[in-house]
Amino acid sequence: MSIAPKKSLGQHFLRDANIRDKIIDLLEAEENDCVVEIGPGTGALTGHLAARYPKLEAVEIDERAIAHLKESMPAIPVHHADVVKYDWATHAAAAGEKIHVIGNLPYYVTSQVVFSLLDAHEHIAEAVMMMQREVAERLVAHPRTKAYGILSVAVQQLTTPHLAFRVSRNVFYPKPDVESAVVRLVFDKDPEILPGTDAVWLRKVVRAAFNQRRKTLRNSLGQLAASCNGEVPEAWRKKRAEELSPSEFALLAQQLRA
Ligand code: SAM
Repeated sequence: MSIAPKKSLGQHFLRDANIRDKIIDLLEAEENDCVVEIGPGTGALTGHLAARYPKLEAVEIDERAIAHLKESMPAIPVHHADVVKYDWATHAAAAGEKIHVIGNLPYYVTSQVVFSLLDAHEHIAEAVMMMQREVAERLVAHPRTKAYGILSVAVQQLTTPHLAFRVSRNVFYPKPDVESAVVRLVFDKDPEILPGTDAVWLRKVVRAAFNQRRKTLRNSLGQLAASCNGEVPEAWRKKRAEELSPSEFALLAQQLRA
């Protein structure tokens, strides 16, 4: 059975066995670990993953893809859900362990998927994901570079990201408009939430700073500081968002509230 790809669901199917194996090889899960594939589609990775990881499950939004998988790989549980809203905590609790995530992501929701994993960071061990190259480069970007932004700070606060390799658009059907890359996130960090702050406040500060990234923090964070009846502390005023490391953002978030 062949399934006509629906562009609206961000589908582009992997057609290269070497790339497929290289992606699967990045996963550092043990045989009996809990592995979840995002967006299996017609199963380019799925059967090969299941051969290594007998407890593999998948999350897929497309009913036709699910029907196809039920027929071709009936032993694999496929959850019919929007991965952006997927309840990783409940899945991990049922499994009794952290989840190893893998997938060729639907590109239209890449950032949202990354944020949903970060929000569930205590339930995730690692995530191996193919995504558009430009987003992959943002995840691993260093301060003082053009690619460094909200996503870099959020990801680097909770994980160690590795850009494993880049992928040509010729290995997909249909050929996507963008270049791709495969990233591995290792969820190995405790959140750097300093006393007096919380994750929501920290994200608000990072967003406000990067929303006006060309401005100094005195300007970009002025309103936020005023909402706490204060000013941007002297030491930060002349800096710009892209100059701060993830740890410095944690410190700044605390000082804005002090
Ligand atoms: N794994 C297949 C491959 O590598 O060829 C298909 C990958 S394709 C890029 C993305 C897959 O994610 C599609 O199967 C699509 O139906 C599914 N998808 C799209 N949006 C989704 C969402 N919000 N939640 C879960 N799955 C989604």
